[in-house]
Amino acid sequence: MSCGRSEQRIQRLYDPRRLCDEDDELSEVEPDAVPTEVRDWLALTFTRSMTNVKRRGQEKPKFRSVAHAIRAGIMVDRMYRRLSSSAGLHVPPHVLLLLKNLDDWSFDVFEVNKAGDGHSLKYVGYELLQKYDLITKYKINSTMLDNFLLQMENGYSKYKNPYHNLVHGADVAQTVHYILSQSRLAHWLTDLEVFATIIAALIHDYEHTGTTNNFHIQTGSEFALLYNDRAVLENHHICASFQVMKHEDSNILAHLSREEYREFRTLVIEMVLATDMSFHFQQLKNMKNLLGMPENIDKPKALSLVLHCADISHPSKDWNLHSRWTDQLLEEFFRQGDREQELGLPFSPLCDRNSTLVAESQIGFIDFIVDPSFSVMTDMLDKILTPLQKDSKNMVNDVISEEVFEKKESKSTSTSSLHSSSSKGSKSTQGKYSFKTPWADCLLDNKSHWKDRAAKDAEERKRKATENQSNNCNSEVSSTTSSHQSKPDSKVVTSVSQDNKLPSEGKMGK
Ligand SMILES: [Zn+2]
Repeated sequence: MSCGRSEQRIQRLYDPRRLCDEDDELSEVEPDAVPTEVRDWLALTFTRSMTNVKRRGQEKPKFRSVAHAIRAGIMVDRMYRRLSSSAGLHVPPHVLLLLKNLDDWSFDVFEVNKAGDGHSLKYVGYELLQKYDLITKYKINSTMLDNFLLQMENGYSKYKNPYHNLVHGADVAQTVHYILSQSRLAHWLTDLEVFATIIAALIHDYEHTGTTNNFHIQTGSEFALLYNDRAVLENHHICASFQVMKHEDSNILAHLSREEYREFRTLVIEMVLATDMSFHFQQLKNMKNLLGMPENIDKPKALSLVLHCADISHPSKDWNLHSRWTDQLLEEFFRQGDREQELGLPFSPLCDRNSTLVAESQIGFIDFIVDPSFSVMTDMLDKILTPLQKDSKNMVNDVISEEVFEKKESKSTSTSSLHSSSSKGSKSTQGKYSFKTPWADCLLDNKSHWKDRAAKDAEERKRKATENQSNNCNSEVSSTTSSHQSKPDSKVVTSVSQDNKLPSEGKMGK
């Protein structure tokens, strides 16, 4: 523990009690490494009060190689059933064509949304449930599924958010699928767990208001009152989407047994609650601790980390996707800033459209949040799947891969960051478990894009500051006819660029 050090570094920002358990990561944010505004945002968004620590009984992992073996026997039956009951949702052929890329890391969900007339969540959701054969397995009625997916889309569109909309829901679900299938983590899971994970991803921001939890708390919104300021939005996403699933027209869970329903619900609740960004540091720390005793990594914890990583994955995708997501996210923040201004509240970090440091915020986000998260998740996948690989040799792979795991070899992606970063390709060598980690290259590439932009932005700010300075001087000269004080010194320029921060200290930790 290094509470003292951490407090010293960031004491201006928050109540020190908040950080005692979260400082490992945040203390690495050197005071000068990122602008104050970005640090404020990281702290406000990704830390939380210690009083919210949530515990859950430790559950022993179950390696289900026997169950998987049994699946081999029923595979033929399943494929037969799927062929014989082909009444499903209609997916237009041009959308179907794009959905063939569903197994790619940088799958273009925007393109699917455009081709699918704004229905990317419906099509991606349907395709994923189909891919894992869950529609047949859980006897999901296609009309109810259609209704459910459309209602999800309506809920995501309710507040017309630039970022937290149905495209984000579809994107996170597809990213979760990539991780489950490419790492072969799905082999470790039961059908019900895969089902819960995909649904959790699809619903995880349902009826998002386009404002942060902190905004709800500060404004005393209905949701904040209802959920007592704790995981305000996440509680709502879960509650409202289960209400949809309970409705008889959209009850995709109608054929689950009572036990299956309980297990499904428990899993979805745990996963979606863990998308509350203020749990981030605690979540990472808990998982890091578990890596030393991998037999204790339970499925809800593992799946929660996968969902959390997928939720913050846009900086780890191709630049064209990431830059588009960034623009949309920032626009959403700025709209909140506009409302804060109207309400006479101080701006939340990154919410002032006139002074936010976009490039720096993304560099900070990548360095202190996204990169460490993916690194812990990669280690976790290795710890979970290496013994499974040994246990079941190739048997398990052969069983499920026919349905879910298309045997596509990588184009040019990195492989497993696990302990050996040099290996390129895709499959394991000498029996060592490995998998593709395309996010590593994307993160590096995107960071360098942002660094270029940060340098350009800084130059632009400097130029403007100089310009303002000389304008001021000119007006001073003309109004007072005094001739002293002419050139802008470097101190002035520096202070202008540092003043691009937001007065958020006052509301931190409250
Ligand atoms: Zn999300």
